Amino acid sequence: MAEKGRQLDLTSLTGSEKPSSSDAEERKGKFLGVHFACCDVYSRIYLSRDLTAYVGNCPRCAKRIQILVGSGGTNSRFFTAN
Ligand SMILES: [Zn+2]
Repeated sequence: MAEKGRQLDLTSLTGSEKPSSSDAEERKGKFLGVHFACCDVYSRIYLSRDLTAYVGNCPRCAKRIQILVGSGGTNSRFFTAN
């Protein structure tokens, strides 16, 4: 009984010590997930060189979209491009 409890504690400790690697990669990449309404498809767009907007093209019809970076910033990671 007591040993079972110890094993559970070790498991939870290991989980909290390791941050999600995919989350760290997302912060490095500076991209947004966007839903392209024109073709009903999801894709990523990346921060422009001057850091003022996220820009990209629809993967199907190549329509160009641009999402300006607000001064206050936004926590939202997903947008819909119409
Ligand atoms: Zn499209």
